[in-house]
Amino acid sequence: MRIPLIAGNWKMNKSVAEARAFVTAVQGKLPAPDKVETAIAAPALFLETMLEANVDQVLRIAAETCYYEDEGAYTGEISPKALRQIAIPYVIVGHSERRRYFNETDDVINRKVHAVFRNGMTPIICCDETMGRQSSGEKIHWVVNQVSAALKGVPAEDAARMVIAYEPSWAIGSGSRASSDQAEEGCYLIRQTIADIYSDDLANGVRILYGGSVKPDNISGLMARDNIDGVLAGGSSLPEESFIQLANYQ
Ligand code: PGA
Repeated sequence: MRIPLIAGNWKMNKSVAEARAFVTAVQGKLPAPDKVETAIAAPALFLETMLEANVDQVLRIAAETCYYEDEGAYTGEISPKALRQIAIPYVIVGHSERRRYFNETDDVINRKVHAVFRNGMTPIICCDETMGRQSSGEKIHWVVNQVSAALKGVPAEDAARMVIAYEPSWAIGSGSRASSDQAEEGCYLIRQTIADIYSDDLANGVRILYGGSVKPDNISGLMARDNIDGVLAGGSSLPEESFIQLANYQ
């Protein structure tokens, strides 16, 4: 059984004090992690403070990115080894904003996926897709390629615990999310791609999230679909109340 994962991506928002206040405010208000897992990916600068404030340890505190080397002369980068040392369980890899504004290529994303696994953490691998004006044939090609490229050389035992997020870039931050049918279709396609690379069994165990303008009032329609195992929410994960509502969608 795939335990749903409701994840937030704060991007470059909030202050350390606001991050602490958020974690304190959600204590005792999130579902039990064996029923619905919850996570917030936050800027690296906030992580230790959030871990300290996370007394009941129900919320998973995650990173938004990391580098693909463990240490060395890489000014300004975030070490996956250092994330592991503070017990960060999840790292977002390949978000469309990283691809677009920081020139992360499929090759860089693949190296980062390896680095996250090498350090015992779980990547939340984002697949972008610029649907909208593309024909559905091109859309399929795009997502399949991104998933295959991200997983190059990743052994089955690692792939079995990864999380994938299907995030059409036209739906991110736009207020116009994919319909439940479009989201289900994208997630289904990703599952088929994983099955082709590994096996049906492995693909059936992998959690696939939808991301892009998810809100408390539209989450239940998404979560009702067979291939959608959770969400990656940006804007609606910022206010405490809204994230608590997302987490308690059932
Ligand atoms: P959004 O962002 O929910 O604000 O559209 C989603 C994301 O970028 O992961």
